[in-house]
Amino acid sequence: MAAESKPVLAWVGLGSNLEQPCEQVRGALHELATLPDTRLTAASSLYRSAPMGPQDQPTYINAVARLETRLTAEALLDALQAIEATHGRVRTGVHWGPRTLDLDILLYGGEQLSSPRLTVPHPGMAERSFVLYPLEEIDPDLDIPGLGLLRELLAGCSPEGLERLEEDDSK
Ligand code: ATP
Ligand code: MG
Ligand code: MG
Repeated sequence: MAAESKPVLAWVGLGSNLEQPCEQVRGALHELATLPDTRLTAASSLYRSAPMGPQDQPTYINAVARLETRLTAEALLDALQAIEATHGRVRTGVHWGPRTLDLDILLYGGEQLSSPRLTVPHPGMAERSFVLYPLEEIDPDLDIPGLGLLRELLAGCSPEGLERLEEDDSK
């Protein structure tokens, strides 16, 4: 995998609503910790959230992780998609349809990236309570490239429908 010379902080959003979502997300956090040239430096609690898009699907479990990585953004995306595949992610073509595991790059250092495969900061993150509130838990002072302070984004994003789970809550 391609590696940067200097480590970069990257934030990853995790989501699952199929096949024991809490276990999918907890398992993925462990797998993030084992990526090459990468350390898992923080992980939020797990959160339960209402689905976006089609409403006739189970509720989601979400979390956010902070990595310190020497992988390039593209190599990190490759690695995340490989983890999704090991969790049996099937791409049905339904936009925001149900999935065993979704791993999105939210932020990659202070960079703003735009390529056919990768947009960073992740488009939509500014409106997603299941991203912003877990991010606040681990990095409340974040300043998001092109979007501004996390605190200001939170002020415009209702936490309604979002529930933080206790450590031992494995529902
Ligand atoms: P959303 O991106 O709105 O949360 P999604 O996660 O369901 O939707 P996916 O089906 O997981 O979407 O991904 C579709 C494509 O998005 C991927 O093949 C990937 O190339 C592209 N993509 C663009 N930017 C990112 C990013 N920051 N993180 C992950 N994938 C991204
Ligand atoms: Mg997603
Ligand atoms: Mg995705």
